[in-house]
Amino acid sequence: MSFEAKTGSFEKMKQLNQSTVLNMIRMREPISRAEIAKLTKLTPPTVSSLVNELIQKNLVTEEEAPSSKAGGRKPIMLRINYSAYYIVGVYAAAEIIRVILTTMDGKIISDYCKEMTQLPSKHEFLNLVIESIHYVLNHTTIDKSLILGIGFAMHGLVNPNEGLAIFSPHLQLENIPIKDCLEEEFDIPVFVENDVRALALAESWFGQGKDVSDFVCISVGRGIGSGIFINSEIYKSSFNTGGEIGHTIIDVNGPKCQCGNHGCLEAYASETAILSKVKSELNNYPDSILFQWVKNGKKELSLNLVFDAARSGDELAASILVETGRSLGLAAANMINILKPSKLILEGNIFLEDKYVLDPLKQMINKYTFKSPHEEISVVCSKLGKTGMPLGAVTLVLNKLFKPEE
Ligand SMILES: [Zn+2]
Repeated sequence: MSFEAKTGSFEKMKQLNQSTVLNMIRMREPISRAEIAKLTKLTPPTVSSLVNELIQKNLVTEEEAPSSKAGGRKPIMLRINYSAYYIVGVYAAAEIIRVILTTMDGKIISDYCKEMTQLPSKHEFLNLVIESIHYVLNHTTIDKSLILGIGFAMHGLVNPNEGLAIFSPHLQLENIPIKDCLEEEFDIPVFVENDVRALALAESWFGQGKDVSDFVCISVGRGIGSGIFINSEIYKSSFNTGGEIGHTIIDVNGPKCQCGNHGCLEAYASETAILSKVKSELNNYPDSILFQWVKNGKKELSLNLVFDAARSGDELAASILVETGRSLGLAAANMINILKPSKLILEGNIFLEDKYVLDPLKQMINKYTFKSPHEEISVVCSKLGKTGMPLGAVTLVLNKLFKPEE
């Protein structure tokens, strides 16, 4: 079932000019019809008729301008009515499925998290997703016909055109037909994208990428991925798999990566890599704070515990975190040299504290980025937090509605 074949309100709104007008209102609101005509180069009667349709659909509201300079008739200004429709955003990570329901400005109305305690089969995974979405929809009073679409942020390799999860490394599953399955169940348009690319889209709408047309988003969790935003669009490559910074090579003689190669960034700097490094080193440092904490199963080894130990003066923990930052910084510097984005946005729990990972990362970028003095590339942390990926899923739907397609 394709998006175009739908007969609901969403399909009609999608017409190119209407999206153009809608997006112009979003970017410049409050804005008058005359200004829209000037900026879009559409004729005033065309703008008027498109705006009227948008008002009928309750997507746009009118208000009187507070005052007019010329002292004449006050112009009528237009705004987006963000609470008119709703969007479902789903994020499937390694161990959780998270479903949020939002208004069109990304305000979260419901938030549900389902844990996956064991590796599901393809069928079980899709059933868990369906159950989770039903749970959210059943626990809200909103009119279901006002839901514009379901966005889905999926880790691993994704084909967004077919709405297919090609390969999920964490679930060890291939070719999951997410779009087909969810559209059949819910009869709502579904858009699927890689989780970090969805996150980058969320950053461009709601986060640190709002005011720049080019940035790179690097996400570090159990794996490492990136979302590349160029000329105000997500870069996918014709294979839909662009941005795999986690599998760029730091050292060909390095540790084995999940992908089969040796020395990938992911094998050095993911959360999994940090913990396995700690485990393999721990017995060599029986005096370390970390060793004392975890011996005899007193405390469970976790990323937080490694940070706690580093803060308490544990040299082993601190040095592993600093090395992680240096590896990430090296890979980031290489990426910056190729793409020269104006911003680098970092997402992940390991960036929550400056000292251990972020500072060495920035030092490596400063050292290895080839640039002229006027090139200022800012390195910032995402502020969207755990909401970033599901909000990215929501943004997939928004992007279809507001951004005109050629
Ligand atoms: Zn790899």
